[in-house]
Amino acid sequence: MPSETSVVEGVGKVLFIGGRWVPADGGKTFAVHDPATGEALCQIADASPADGVAALDAAVAAQDSWASHPPRERGEILRRAYQELTSRVDELALLMTLEMGKPLAEARGEIAYAAEFFRWFAEEAVRIDGGYATAPNGTGRFLVAKQPVGPSLLITPWNFPMAMGTRKIGPAIAAGCTSVIKPASQTPLCMLALARILADAGLPDGVLNVLTTTDSGGVMEPLIRDGRARKLSFTGSTAVGRKLLEQCSEKVLRTSMELGGNAPFLVFADADLDAALDGAMLAKMRNIGEACTAANRFYVQRDVAEEFARRMAERMAEQPIGRGTEEGVVVGPLIDEAAVEKVTGLVDDAAERGATVLTGGSAVDGPGHFYRPTVLADVPPDARMGQEEIFGPVAPISVFDTEDEAVRVANDTEYGLVSYLYTSDVKRALRVAERLEAGMVGLNQGIVSNPAAPFGGVKQSGLGREGGTVGIDEFLETKYIAVAL
Ligand code: NAP
Repeated sequence: MPSETSVVEGVGKVLFIGGRWVPADGGKTFAVHDPATGEALCQIADASPADGVAALDAAVAAQDSWASHPPRERGEILRRAYQELTSRVDELALLMTLEMGKPLAEARGEIAYAAEFFRWFAEEAVRIDGGYATAPNGTGRFLVAKQPVGPSLLITPWNFPMAMGTRKIGPAIAAGCTSVIKPASQTPLCMLALARILADAGLPDGVLNVLTTTDSGGVMEPLIRDGRARKLSFTGSTAVGRKLLEQCSEKVLRTSMELGGNAPFLVFADADLDAALDGAMLAKMRNIGEACTAANRFYVQRDVAEEFARRMAERMAEQPIGRGTEEGVVVGPLIDEAAVEKVTGLVDDAAERGATVLTGGSAVDGPGHFYRPTVLADVPPDARMGQEEIFGPVAPISVFDTEDEAVRVANDTEYGLVSYLYTSDVKRALRVAERLEAGMVGLNQGIVSNPAAPFGGVKQSGLGREGGTVGIDEFLETKYIAVAL
């Protein structure tokens, strides 16, 4: 097992622009912290708006030659990077745990998941298709071609520091787009490690450029408004996504928006309760509850509600809390103190409105930003957590009586990323799945993420899909050529 110091030291602490590792303009740096201890891990380059322009210049300069690079070679670079990620899983997982907090086993899982996006898009690079058709009048012909959108801006969140990057970089590379990526300021180290892996795998200079910065808006807004980038792919909160959509409207950029969620988890009385509890733990506790796909609201049919809540509370109370590097830890720290305060506020609000705390219900004293796994029963409909993302290890449970009521409460949110549904009645399963307003439905399973499936939301959870056979389309334009014979 590599040491903590060696994995942090192994990462370039500077910007990656045009194939060169360079300090920030003016030499500014900022600290990256370990959320389990609150201590600084290292200092890294803090990009300025001028660095942003340099990165976009590099992406624009590389675009034409990258677009004409053989698709097979684009795919082979991704394939080599996939192999490297896979073979260095322990070291990269440790790096992720140090900067983000998730337990090592989950970090390993994320590296594997992240690598799979490269494997998947390595295969998709050579399957970009087109068409040839006869016009309805019989004389003309239609040629349809897919071409890279062009230089792309990519912005990723801290909660899945590697996978949210590969889910964008993979299709961009496969489609023939160059890009500038800005990881979250709290978790930039994984992205820097990933850039090195891609460079070593043979990615030409300027195809991927990495900006780490504490001035996200100041650096990215000018690039969005510049007009040379043709695409923004963003994963993060709905609030920031809305702001970026507004900025994109000026130059009419193509956008992909993977935004917030507020997933309902429905358990019908006919469900296999053991399976529902397993699924509930996964849907709730993956990533310490800090996932856009996290089950945010549990609705359980009256006959089984009490048993479900009791058994869920038993399981949650058993989850070992600690620093993610420690053996056996399942619940790591939240990302920062603001996250602990937010979760505390939501739990206190629900309790004040009449919810019963079955287990947990409070933060753990520092150092680090820990919150106890919590189960709340009889959560009233007006509790704030019914409408807001909790982003922590808290499971609020409410009771429903009828199928119509379950669908109505599940859909009563501005979000529509994912919904979970447990039932053993196949007709009900399909009926309810069709009525749920969500881009994805977990039917008798508590995890939906899969690089080979189209991931994305409806309503204010976003626009577009990542992964699956449609993931590459987000980085392709369709060109129709009208042919007179
Ligand atoms: P966030 O605050 O929206 O930040 C996301 C990214 O945007 C970060 O890189 C952040 O940089 C950057 N950013 C913030 N303000 C910006 C601005 N004005 N201009 C340009 N960039 C800006 O979200 P987060 O707290 O990191 O992530 C959690 C959110 O992401 C949750 O809502 C979660 O549901 C969502 N999410 C969605 C998906 C999905 O696939 N739908 C997946 C994962 C997460 P800084 O780090 O510098 O603030």
